Amino acid sequence: MDFYRSQTPEDSKRALPIVACGVSRATMPLSGTHWPVLLLSVTLREMPTSGIYDFLIVGAGLFGATCAYELSARGQNCLVIEKRRHIGGNCFTEPRDGITIHRYGPHIFHTSDERIWTWIRQFATFNHYRHRAKVNLHGKIYSFPLNLATFNELWGITTPNDAKAHLDSIAIPNIDVSDLEGWALSKVGSEIYHKFIKGYTSKQWGCDPSCLPASLIKRLPIRLSYDDSYFVDPYQGIPIGGYTPIIEKLFARCRVLTNVDYLRSKSELDRSARHVIYTGPLDAFHEFRFGKLDYRSLCFSHELLETNDFQGIAQMNYPSQSIPYTRIIEHKHFEFGCQPVTWISKEYPASLKDGEGEMYPIPDKDNMERANKYKERSKDSYFRKYSFGGRLAEYRYYDMHQAIGSALHLVKMLVSNQSLT
Ligand code: UDP
Repeated sequence: MDFYRSQTPEDSKRALPIVACGVSRATMPLSGTHWPVLLLSVTLREMPTSGIYDFLIVGAGLFGATCAYELSARGQNCLVIEKRRHIGGNCFTEPRDGITIHRYGPHIFHTSDERIWTWIRQFATFNHYRHRAKVNLHGKIYSFPLNLATFNELWGITTPNDAKAHLDSIAIPNIDVSDLEGWALSKVGSEIYHKFIKGYTSKQWGCDPSCLPASLIKRLPIRLSYDDSYFVDPYQGIPIGGYTPIIEKLFARCRVLTNVDYLRSKSELDRSARHVIYTGPLDAFHEFRFGKLDYRSLCFSHELLETNDFQGIAQMNYPSQSIPYTRIIEHKHFEFGCQPVTWISKEYPASLKDGEGEMYPIPDKDNMERANKYKERSKDSYFRKYSFGGRLAEYRYYDMHQAIGSALHLVKMLVSNQSLT
């Protein structure tokens, strides 16, 4: 049966169609030339299943890979099961024409935790990239996230004090700031909200911003200086050569099977290990008994262009609702590439059904209540064989450094509980 089959060398060379909401745009073969830990042609049926592994790790994304590395470094025997045909989850990158492509959207590493920065740099050299974006609104380019340059472009304002006075005069007082729309209006007023936020957010999340929690936009700074950097963290950069080589190193001492659906063979896979670390969707694990958790997804259109520089920056946002995508990523800028060609990716927000997998948990009231019910159920002693972690299993909008921090914490707990050596 097909779902028992793990990735074969033939799979890894097969051309992967690049789709934009179902429309085939180009082909980009999976690289597959340097995946020593993955090229396993066994089937699960051929595997001995009675507790030969210390840990079964479900999901080969960053959370699972961090656990796998830390556990195998402590002598634990780990089996990793991944539903997709490749490792790395949404951090997966692959080289094309000398350019590292972030296959599922841009991943910029940033953290203020020196411990996590030191940890990740064991596996890659990071460059000095600092993330900046621009907004293209009806052909005019604005500085983003909102800063003094944006206020100058909008209103001709040149000083922090004038910007503050103007924002104070247009911010809408005494409104409910718990939802995204109210919070934005209370900070920057109607003009900025309608130009930069309402359209982008409605496209991104597939609903009106008044139905979303303010936490989603609080990720973005509003600055009264000309500082236009996306993140404030002292440690930032892009791993030279991308994230997939990091993930390969993290799995170097494990057995990894791709193209295997854990939930379809759960009981036999569970028997293969003493403990299971599950990083897939929380609701699916519990057979949706409290209802489905909503996820927002994306479709990507990856395009090779015969020009050396398409947009002059890694990220250009398109907040207008008349444009179906939210942003265009030009990958070469993450590594300061000088190639004669360029690869760009347009991001089309999509429902889970139409997109390329679960990408964003939607932290509104209903979903959070449902997620909490699932989390409570997971704590039942009946599930003591399982640990849950990562963006999907914790139903949390994790950035990469948070996923690593949470995985390191889990391993620490497992080590202290089970006296691993
Ligand atoms: N956002 C916006 N306009 C933009 C960019 C972002 O209104 O031009 C809002 C939108 O609601 C988005 C949130 O800010 O979901 C967080 O943006 P971020 O760039 O952090 O999103 P991510 O990179 O995680 O998709």
